[in-house]
Amino acid sequence: MARERKPERIGPGEKLGDIMSWEILFAICKCEHYAEVNIRTLRLKCGGDAVLRRLEPKLRCKKCSEAGKSGFFVMKMRR
Ligand SMILES: [Zn+2]
Repeated sequence: MARERKPERIGPGEKLGDIMSWEILFAICKCEHYAEVNIRTLRLKCGGDAVLRRLEPKLRCKKCSEAGKSGFFVMKMRR
């Protein structure tokens, strides 16, 4: 079955270390602005045990500059 390449909302317990190398992490804001998140940088900063949803309040949107309105999404790279 072909799957749409659509970002999926991160699960409530998903940790930074759970993101696989073939997945792309995005932060998507309520204003629909989205940005790719550099997982390696974030992992160095917060550690692999950091729960992604707990980091969301710290996300600040670059477009509307509001913090706490963005959420993490992952997109699986499939060939
Ligand atoms: Zn925004």
